[in-house]
Amino acid sequence: VKPRPRSICLRSELPGISRVIGVHSGKGGVGKSTVAVNLALALAARGLQVGLLDADVHGPSAPTLLGIEGRMETTSDGTRVRPLERHGLKVVSLGFLLPETKALIWRGPLVERGLAQLFTEVDWGELDLLLIDLPPGTSDVHLEAARQAPLAGILTVTAPGQVAVDDVRRGMEMFADLAVPCLGIVENLAGLVCGRCGTETALFGAGGGAELATLTGLPLLARLPFDAALAEASDAGRPPLVASPETAASAWFQALAGRV
Ligand code: ADP
Repeated sequence: VKPRPRSICLRSELPGISRVIGVHSGKGGVGKSTVAVNLALALAARGLQVGLLDADVHGPSAPTLLGIEGRMETTSDGTRVRPLERHGLKVVSLGFLLPETKALIWRGPLVERGLAQLFTEVDWGELDLLLIDLPPGTSDVHLEAARQAPLAGILTVTAPGQVAVDDVRRGMEMFADLAVPCLGIVENLAGLVCGRCGTETALFGAGGGAELATLTGLPLLARLPFDAALAEASDAGRPPLVASPETAASAWFQALAGRV
C-alpha cells in the first residue's frame, strides 16, 4: 500500500452530509458489517438522519442483514440514484447496484470510478451521518475512499485473537498515513457468556481489544459477546433493533451509538 500524502488529496465534499465515518476491520468475518448495520440502526433510532453505504466489494452484506431486496430508482433528471429506505435508514449497497459484481472488476482504475459513483451519483439528501462499511484489510479501495470522501474517522472492528489484532494494526497504520483518525475500537465475538451461570468462555482468543486500546491509546468503545441469536437474526434479515428491541444485542448497539 502506497498512501498518497494528504496534502495532494483532492477531497470531494459530499453536499448535505454532515459527517462520514468508515467502519473497518483488518480481516473478514469479524463482524464488521454486523456492527456497521446495527450501529446505523441504533443511531437512526436516536433521531439522526443516517445513511449506510455498503462498500464492501468482497461481499456486500447490508441487503441480507437488513432484509432488503430491490433496485435503486434514478432521480427524475436521470443523473443520480436514490438510496433504498428501510427502518429509518437510507441504504446503498453494491449488492443493489450490481448483483453480479465480482471483486475482479473493482480492482485497479475501476475502483476510482466506482467509488466516485457511490459518493457523488447517489441522492443522499440531508444526512447527519453517513456510515461506510469498508472492505476488510488494506487495498486501493481504502485509499480511494479516503481520497474521495471527507472521512471524519474510522471505527475499527476486531475479534479478540492475536491474528485479528495484528491485521487491525496494519489497517490502522494505513489510515494514520492517510491522516484519517481512528475514533475507537469495537471488539466483537468477545467470548460466549453462559445464560445460566454468567461465565464467559473465550471462543476467538481474549483481550485483543483491550490490548489494541493500550497500544494505540484509543478508546475501546464496546466489547460485543458472541450471540447466537444475533447471528440467526442477522442471517434472516431481522436486525435486533427492529425485530427484537428487548434483546441484549439491541442494548449493546444502543450503548455503542451513545459513544460514537
Ligand atoms: P464481516 O463484515 O467482518 O465479514 P459479518 O458482519 O458479515 O462479518 O459477520 C460474519 C458472521 O458472523 C455473520 O454470520 C454474522 O451473523 C456473525 N456474527 C457477527 N457478529 C456476531 C456476534 N457478536 N455473535 C454471533 N455471531 C456474529
